[in-house]
Amino acid sequence: MSFVRPEIIRPPSEWRSYYLPLTSGCSNNTCTFCNYYGSKLRLRELEDVLKEIDALALFKTKGICLPSISYVVYAVARGWDGRRVFLQDGDALVYPFPRLKEVLEHLNEKFPSLERVGAYATARDILQKSPAELKILKELKLGILYMGVESGDEEILRRVGKGVNYRQMVEAGRRVKEAGIALSVTVILGLGGVEDSERHALATAEILTEIDPDYAGALTLTLVPGTPLAVQVREGLFHPITPFQSLEELRIILENSSFTHCFFSSMHASNYFSIKGWLPGEKERMMGELAYVLARKDPRLLRPEYARGL
Ligand code: SF4
Repeated sequence: MSFVRPEIIRPPSEWRSYYLPLTSGCSNNTCTFCNYYGSKLRLRELEDVLKEIDALALFKTKGICLPSISYVVYAVARGWDGRRVFLQDGDALVYPFPRLKEVLEHLNEKFPSLERVGAYATARDILQKSPAELKILKELKLGILYMGVESGDEEILRRVGKGVNYRQMVEAGRRVKEAGIALSVTVILGLGGVEDSERHALATAEILTEIDPDYAGALTLTLVPGTPLAVQVREGLFHPITPFQSLEELRIILENSSFTHCFFSSMHASNYFSIKGWLPGEKERMMGELAYVLARKDPRLLRPEYARGL
């Protein structure tokens, strides 16, 4: 079956990147809350990736569009400044090392102004690359990896089909940082449901502290229709937390975690309330903002349900 270009799903900070697909789907398609659940991982032919890079360079240097190249390439390329590339899809780091190296070499050759390449990665993808390989990728400008941690609680990780445990995620994070690649992680408020809310938050603070990433983002659980978790909610087997309980989890995470130098935020569209700042410096201010909202419990202070997004 030929490779189908995936729709663009990317971290908010990659808004000005060129989106270059290496894969579609996710190698760990078992997370019960995720829209990649059940997706089939496909690796794109290296030759096609290189052809797209050539076409992109031709367009950016001479303004020439080739009829054999997808219109999406030119639509994305039009506003692109040649500096950042985001490799799609759900975990592009699964792309085998020799091919990934060749893609990065080709990008560097064609775009001398290239500053940073980013990709989503599972902990397993990271652990399958050796420290030496990660360093080579870093030298070729792989500058940031985005890893979904979701929770620090082993039981919750197992329950949601994350496919890796606490220690593997800590080890993967360490390996990324040792290679000099920036590490951005996400956790999901509400993933333990009502019953395990506090345990989830405390364990998540613990794993964040241990990973000590450069960027940490909190998302709030959003039920994706058709996923096993959405079915569990419908059948009364999983009890989602309320918006204010999600802020309480955020408060526990913030209070109980410590970082060397981390930009922590809950700016993602799934959240009911946004906080952001550099930790540890801005912790007090951020805790104050949360305390204000939690003390009032006024729904008007929250992002309305209709304005939330995945
Ligand atoms: S590893 Fe990430 S992208 Fe893949 S299914 Fe799990 S949450 Fe989704």
